[in-house]
Amino acid sequence: MPRTRMSDVPANDAPSVTRSGLGWDSHRLVAGRPLILGGVSFPDAELGLEGHSDADVLTHAIIDALLGAAGLGDIGGHFPDDDDAHKDADSLKLLGQVLGALSAERLRVVHIDATVLMERPKLAPRRDAIRDRLAQALALDRRCVNVKASTGEGMGFVGRR
Ligand SMILES: [Zn+2]
Repeated sequence: MPRTRMSDVPANDAPSVTRSGLGWDSHRLVAGRPLILGGVSFPDAELGLEGHSDADVLTHAIIDALLGAAGLGDIGGHFPDDDDAHKDADSLKLLGQVLGALSAERLRVVHIDATVLMERPKLAPRRDAIRDRLAQALALDRRCVNVKASTGEGMGFVGRR
């Protein structure tokens, strides 16, 4: 009996295929910029993130993970940082566009697990607000959006803030 090879099955027609993707991003901390993580601002932060868009590094990493899982390249390819259309862009809106691209591929997000590396401010007081904001943007239950935080223990560029 002939066996069906996975390579013969269009990827998105294969039943219950679960894909995973990894995303990574970093932005420089500077004075005079807002700190926005997962769509939530930290108004008391001394420093904010430098970037062409709103520099929401957490949302950017999630976008890259989703694009990776979908085989759709990376955030720079979809939203070039020399394109004025994305100047100061709300990264959650970019995430919305990525969800549209995933939907066109008949893919949907089922879970997010993210780790934010930073020395300060502490993420914990705003963790649930971030989870709620991302869950809303991703049309997921909060329990399906996990956000963890870690410091650099004074080491490396995270340790230097
Ligand atoms: Zn970024």
